[in-house]
Amino acid sequence: MQSNSPSLEKFAARKLAGLEKRQLRRRLKESNNSVGMQVERDGQTYVNFCSNDYLGLANDPRVIKAAQDATARYGAGSGASRLVTGGHHLLFELERRLARLKGTEDCIVFGSGYLANLAIAPALLGVGDLVLVDELAHACIHAGAELSRAQIRKFRHNDLDHLRELLDTERSAYRHAMIMTDGVFSMDGDFAPLPEMLALADRYDAWTLVDDAHAVGVVGDGKGSSAYFEPQATPPLQMGTLSKALGSYGGYLCASHTVCELLRTRARPLVFTTALPPASIGAALAALDIVESDAKRRERPLELAKRFCAAVGLPVPVSPIVPVLLGSEARALDASARLQDQGFLVTAIRPPTVPRGTARLRITFSATHTEADIDQLAQGVRLILQETSETA
Ligand SMILES: *Cc1c(COP(=O)(O)O)cnc(C)c1O
Repeated sequence: MQSNSPSLEKFAARKLAGLEKRQLRRRLKESNNSVGMQVERDGQTYVNFCSNDYLGLANDPRVIKAAQDATARYGAGSGASRLVTGGHHLLFELERRLARLKGTEDCIVFGSGYLANLAIAPALLGVGDLVLVDELAHACIHAGAELSRAQIRKFRHNDLDHLRELLDTERSAYRHAMIMTDGVFSMDGDFAPLPEMLALADRYDAWTLVDDAHAVGVVGDGKGSSAYFEPQATPPLQMGTLSKALGSYGGYLCASHTVCELLRTRARPLVFTTALPPASIGAALAALDIVESDAKRRERPLELAKRFCAAVGLPVPVSPIVPVLLGSEARALDASARLQDQGFLVTAIRPPTVPRGTARLRITFSATHTEADIDQLAQGVRLILQETSETA
């Protein structure tokens, strides 16, 4: 039975109306993903260009089979927190495999990437410490920083001079300091300047946390953003997700053994939540096998992104995320609707996900897209940009 509180109803309705008016209301739509980046919505089939399943592994038969086998063997749920009885052997195996991929001493798997970021900073920082976070870092990095109760300073996106200035003026007033950034930025597809950032971190004794949600599996031979640089630029804290290129669900932190041991004891989103279900772990293990052995598949999303950008006349991309900036919310929504009419699903990205005035299409490329898909999409986007520039 539904029991409504009149004041609560009134509050929610007023809030929604305000969001609607500013074109910021979001609606959940049913979307059923299937192989080859096909997605079914409202009875229609579209080519999905806004999935983070960069390698098409979420629907790979080998990954699905591994999830089924793990479920048959270990059950549908894990039944408890890992500190109680939820940590079965597949989970430890997954942590060893991720540590090996990243070349770190140790790894902890969390319930999701979001939870990993809520766990890390609060376990390592507190009042009297300083967090320096890239203004465009993912929402859960900012949330983790807030939860830590450390003093937060945002630096302008990828602006090393700003970061240095903040370290210079503020660092000495705090006990510990942490720099937080995406490795590959989720809405822009660019890299953080890790070599220079780590040099600064070293100079000012700051700890660097890099979020590799959009890097693992697709850049740096599948190892992520640190391996993209020559020589490798390896931060002490490398987190990421199993939910994007790895086609499964869950998050992780790769770090030293000592740091991981501290988090196993102190990280509340690990201690007080149920361990990942076996299916997700089995799927991630099978996905890692594919990532490690199939270089062609790893390289494909970026190749396709390059093909698209060349056809549209956009700068050469460095990752499979290509932003097409349109400015206003209305323009982004309109472009998205037009592409949908042509059979492509490309969600409009609006504030607060991106800064005001930078609403955009965010196009993501996957190994299982076809070249024909890319060329048709490019044609549609080219037209939209032409009209936008004519009316601007
Ligand atoms: C998606 C994403 C996350 C969250 O990962 P989930 O496993 O989906 O919770 C964290 N950081 C970045 C940069 C992301 O894009």
